[in-house]
This record gives sequence, C-alpha cells and structure tokens, in this order.
Amino acid sequence: MSHIVIARKYRPQRFDEIVGQGQVTVTLKNAIAQGKIAHAYLFSGPRGVGKTTTARILAKTINCEKYPSKEPCNKCSSCRQISSGSSLDVIEIDAASNRGIEQIRELRENASFAPASAKFKVYIVDEAHQITQDAFNALLKTLEEPPPYIVFVLATTQPEKLPLTILSRCQHFRFRLVADDAIKDCLRKIAASEKAGITDDALEIICSEASGSVRDAESVLEQVISSASGKITREEVEFILGLVESKKVDEIAVAIAEKDIGKVFRIVDDVYRAGYSLTQFCQQIIVKLRNILALKVAGQNPQGFEKIKADRLFWMLDLLGKTEAAMKWSELPRITFETGLYKISSDFISIDEFLRESPPGEESVASPESKIQKREVSRPVVEISEVARILKKEMPAIGKIIEKAVRFEMRANRIYCEFSAEYEVQAKRVMVSLEEIENILRKNGIKKSLEVEISGAKKSSNQKPKLKTTARQLEIDEPIITKMEGIVGGGLEGPVDE
Ligand SMILES: [Zn+2]
Repeated sequence: MSHIVIARKYRPQRFDEIVGQGQVTVTLKNAIAQGKIAHAYLFSGPRGVGKTTTARILAKTINCEKYPSKEPCNKCSSCRQISSGSSLDVIEIDAASNRGIEQIRELRENASFAPASAKFKVYIVDEAHQITQDAFNALLKTLEEPPPYIVFVLATTQPEKLPLTILSRCQHFRFRLVADDAIKDCLRKIAASEKAGITDDALEIICSEASGSVRDAESVLEQVISSASGKITREEVEFILGLVESKKVDEIAVAIAEKDIGKVFRIVDDVYRAGYSLTQFCQQIIVKLRNILALKVAGQNPQGFEKIKADRLFWMLDLLGKTEAAMKWSELPRITFETGLYKISSDFISIDEFLRESPPGEESVASPESKIQKREVSRPVVEISEVARILKKEMPAIGKIIEKAVRFEMRANRIYCEFSAEYEVQAKRVMVSLEEIENILRKNGIKKSLEVEISGAKKSSNQKPKLKTTARQLEIDEPIITKMEGIVGGGLEGPVDE
C-alpha cells in the first residue's frame, strides 16, 4: 500500500467535519454567520482534539467570498490558499520555537500592515502557554489596540499558564477529549475510504490507546493500515502497538481475582521473555481491572470476576497504580511489578470483614500473626485519602479540611477524626455538616458514622484541661452554620463560554 498521511488527507475542511467538539463549533459558526467576530480567541484543551484545525477553518470562513456564512466554501481562491497553507494572511506561529517567539515580538510592527488579499489577517499561535514574558507584552500591546482586520487564535493545552491580562481579552472555547464512539466512527469512515478492512475490536483497541485524541488515533490507524495485509484484526493492532495480547491480559486478571499467584507469576515470566514492556503490561492490567470495576459499579457481574467485590477492585487499582509509577523509577522493574502483583493477589479481606472478626477494644490484644497481616492488607481499603477524595469531589471545602486531621482512624462502625486546636474553626465546619457528610460517604459505599473531635489545647496553655467539643452537641448549639456550609462549600466555575 502506498504511503498515506491520514491526518493530512482527512483533515476536516468544515466545522461540521470536526469530530466531537459540537459545543465549540456550533457556537463559533453561528457567531460568524452573524458577522460577530472576536479579536482574540483562546482554544484550550488536550492535545490532538482539533484546536488548530478549528482555528484554520475559522480563518477560512471569515475570509471566504461567501462570508458571512456558517462554513467556508472551500472553492474560492481565498479558501484554497488557506487550505494549501500558502495564504499570506493566515500566519501560524509555534510559540514553542525560538522563531515563533521572534515572530510574536515583531507582531506589533507586522500587524500594522493590512492583509495582502484577504479581509482578515489571522494569527494562529500554537502552544500559546510557551510564550515568553516579553513576547506576551508585545502580544498584549497589539491586543489592547487591535487594528480592525486582526484576529488572534491562541491554542494551548495549559490555559492556566497564560497571564490574566491576555486571558481577559480572549473569547475562551474549551475543547474536550473526544468520546471513543466518535473516534471509532471517524476511523471506520477513513478505513472504508482507504479500502482497508478492520474489525470492530481492532478499532476499539486503537481508541483505547488514543485516549480521546483524534490525532493519535489517526496516526495509529495509519501505521496499522500501512503494515497490515488483508483484514486488520485486534491481534494485529496489538502486535503493531507492542501490546501484550488481550487474551493474556484477561488471563492474568482472572488469575489475580482467583488469587492464583503461581499462575500470575508464570504469565509475567512469559510476557517478560517475549520481550514486552512490563510497564505497558501493568498499564494494560490496570485498564482491564478498571473496566471490570466500571461494570461492577453499573450492577453487572463479568465472568471470572463474580466473587470479587468493588471495594477490593478499587484497592487493587490504587495499589497497581502506585506500582506502575514505582516501576518507572525502579532499577528492577520486574521485581517491583511482581511485588505489587503479589500484594493484590494474596489473601485479602475487606475492612468490614476484618472489623467483624475483631470487635472494638480487642484491637490492642495480641493477635495471631495472620491477623496482623490481614489487617495491614485490608487497611488501605478505606483510608483518609479515600474519604478526602470522595468529599473533595462532592463537598470540596470539607474534603480539604479532612486532610488536616491529626488522627484519622477506622473504628467498628465509625470513622474517628481528630483535629488539633489550631484547626478548631475548620473542624467545627465539619461538625455541623456531619449528616450530609455521612450521606455522601454512604452513597460511596462507606457506611460509617463520623465522629469529630478537637483536642489538645494550644501549646502555650498547657495548664488548661483538654478541650473537647463533641459534634452532636454543636449541631444543636449552632444550627445556623449548617446553612452557611451550603453557601461556602459550593465549587466555583470559571466564566462560561459564549
Ligand atoms: Zn471560500
């Protein structure tokens, strides 16, 4: 098969052809059709999701003979020049390069020349967060008094790195990761016009590797099409990507679930000897376990994983994630990997099971060694980071406070949380929201009551007796604070796109 460059060949030429960014393109084309053009746009979002492509289509549409219209005609000489990259009035600047920074510095001077042949002179600045301080100043000067024919499109993956003075002058559009289904449809169409047969599960593997980036997905598809003969299968894609075949990943996941540590180690050995990257294999197992967890949470019970509970899966994922990170730094990644696998495949009991076995008060009694081991293994299931994670999502202010606790313990049917006197004010906010917090935890599978205490008088006043306020008491004394929590705890969103 002849060499093709899919990304270029199938680059969208109209807003309608951009994959998975409907909320951006619809707003943009409606505004353009009404002749409403901003002097500066900010396109932010992950890499490979269509920011620069959209910027080029924007440049074409506003310079098209048919303007004002919703889409470029792609036939007039202006459209054709911009499509081929030969227009003098659409200037693409890569802010990550020295040349780009130089171009931005010269902006003020160059921007004063009217467009050569088009209506608008469009500057598309890629990687805009890389602009240096003095280049930003030059840009700002042009933005403050823009000539009427100038349009800027700043594209960036990190909008938070842009100075406020620039941000406030831009109309901001947020691009998202593209949904797998949308990418799959797009790849299927490309494969069809390239007359390349490809199975559905092969497309799925490509999508999962691309993680929301159309550009990455297209580049993998191109590799696959150019090296495959005949219909492209899942196995072929895995081979080209250097992925361990999914059968092996399924096999090890079941072995982990069945605590068949011997089999787990045998599979690792096979994979290692076959020359695969163990870090990538670890990532594949993580994705597999995550998918099983998603099915479990949705109430399904995938075959081979019937007995395993969601909370154990969660703990396995947590541990394996840490293992994967550690492998990257380890001199002996295989051993790091095997240690992690051993932990998640060994005898594990959930914290509820453990607590049933050991009623409160007996914890200090010398326990048999096996029990100590079980306890260590079971502990990570519910720990402060997990409680804080849940709360940060649903009650951001409370989540942050919880992390300040000096003691955080799981007791029989309650979570004990102690704050030092220094955090008295914050602790009281937690106290007045107990019911709401417990409801949220219950919804997330932690069925425990929360007990909050403020302890230890300030160091300077050792003489005073320990200050202890119990939560329930406070709830009665200061009901008004409960109402305030709703106001204070709400998350703030940035400005809405228009
Ligand atoms: Zn045109």
